[in-house]
Amino acid sequence: MPSPRIGRFAPTPSGLLHFGSLVAAVASFVDARALGGQWLLRMEDIDPPREMPGAKHAILTTLEHYGFEWDGPVVYQSERHGLYQAVIDRWLQQGLAYACTCSRKTLESFGGIYPGFCRDAGHAPEGAAIRLRVPELRYGFEDRLQGRFEQHLGNEVGDFIIRRRDGLYAYQLAVVLDDGAQGVTDIVRGADLLDSTPRQLYLQELLGLPAPSYLHVPLLVQPDGHKLGKRYRSAPLTTDDARAQLLRALRTLGQRPSTDLDSAAPKDILAWAVRHWRVEALPRARTLAEAQLR
Ligand code: GLU
Ligand code: ZN
Repeated sequence: MPSPRIGRFAPTPSGLLHFGSLVAAVASFVDARALGGQWLLRMEDIDPPREMPGAKHAILTTLEHYGFEWDGPVVYQSERHGLYQAVIDRWLQQGLAYACTCSRKTLESFGGIYPGFCRDAGHAPEGAAIRLRVPELRYGFEDRLQGRFEQHLGNEVGDFIIRRRDGLYAYQLAVVLDDGAQGVTDIVRGADLLDSTPRQLYLQELLGLPAPSYLHVPLLVQPDGHKLGKRYRSAPLTTDDARAQLLRALRTLGQRPSTDLDSAAPKDILAWAVRHWRVEALPRARTLAEAQLR
């Protein structure tokens, strides 16, 4: 028997869902269901200062309105700090991770790649960031849509932060621990995360987790190339035109929803999409300009 497939959607409650989030939600949901798999929902609420009050609740309500049904209870990263910290403590002890006290100013001139100044400092003072040592190796994978993607962790990424100096856990660590704990096998998400994936592959290797399969769908951008999102004030999804937005999301994903769906309920549109899902029709681009969508 093939092992069960598990997909997921993992929104960050720094803002409300917008059309770009809907495209990612639809792609992950439809793909998981088309594989006969489960679809989990995880709230990535690890950054309270950037959280928008009320967003968590609003995200769930919007997803329900759009006809999404997830398996099991919603997982909240804010309830999982114990696990994240236990792994960090272990890696600190093993010398895989270390405390970094460099100021932003010190690092400014290194183009985003950490020069390793604190690698051998040997102690972890309070209020320091924690970095993970990366190997001088290439990590890569075959994306189901984007093809081969690789990075040399030493040259292109550098030792990266797994806990910030303010004590908040980094996305890279939390996402890998949680996908592993939830048994996620099929990750479908926006192509802005392509260049996080090699780091995540390294984390999986350290944790002894199997590498999931990846499909990075095009990221919707504004005409000037900016990502759609709260920062650029893309409009939150409204609940009164779920049908039209779902159809538009499917067309954005290269699917051809039939005209019979023009008066269908959201969950019937999603069910249609599951039956007719064609991964080979997805646009093979990293970004799509939202203005050009029908
Ligand atoms: N929470 C991330 C986001 O909203 C997505 C994480 C992921 O899918 O790996 O961008
Ligand atoms: Zn440092």
